Amino acid sequence: MKISHHLDEATLMAYAAGTLGEAHSVVVAAHAAMCPECRAAIRAAEALGGLLLDDQDQTAVSDTCRAATLASLDGVMRATRPAARERGEVPAPLCNLINNMPLSEIKWKTKAPGIAKFDIPLSPGSRTHLQLLRIAPGKMLPDHGHGGEELTLILRGSYSDHTGQYRAGDVADLDEDTEHAPRVDSGGECICLVATEAPTRFKSFWARLAQPFVGI
Ligand SMILES: [Zn+2]
Repeated sequence: MKISHHLDEATLMAYAAGTLGEAHSVVVAAHAAMCPECRAAIRAAEALGGLLLDDQDQTAVSDTCRAATLASLDGVMRATRPAARERGEVPAPLCNLINNMPLSEIKWKTKAPGIAKFDIPLSPGSRTHLQLLRIAPGKMLPDHGHGGEELTLILRGSYSDHTGQYRAGDVADLDEDTEHAPRVDSGGECICLVATEAPTRFKSFWARLAQPFVGI
């Protein structure tokens, strides 16, 4: 799998520090399961976090001890972080959350012509939302900004917007200031995993009016 769009550094650092919301953490883990580059970056960020904690403690740590700490951190990460493999189109960190279902068995809810979604339950009280979106070929989503940081991981098919083409394994790491109008490429439907902090807001009045019905 050739991956062209990765997580940005701020997202990787927040994930490593454990400060990222639940939905976003699932998307990061799912992308990392597919992407050796981001896995290495997370490992480096976690090691850096460990060193910063050491400095905060102002404890003199010998090089040998530091190397041993980093090696054990690496071991912990391997045990708790996503495995470097995927099960079909569903990356390992997502499997349990959707009861190990393949994408073909998801109970999709149609929200608008050509757009269906499936809400993935998170912990009670989670302030983030995680959903699977299935969008028909050639379908364009209305031009929209975001109510907060949005992470989108492509699982099947592809879409394009002014920032490029996004294919399976690619992640769109968008902040509040980004506005985009993704269009699913004509070759087939696109299924993606989307983490949001707040409901997506559409720019045009009519799209905004329709938003409660579309629900994305
Ligand atoms: Zn990556």
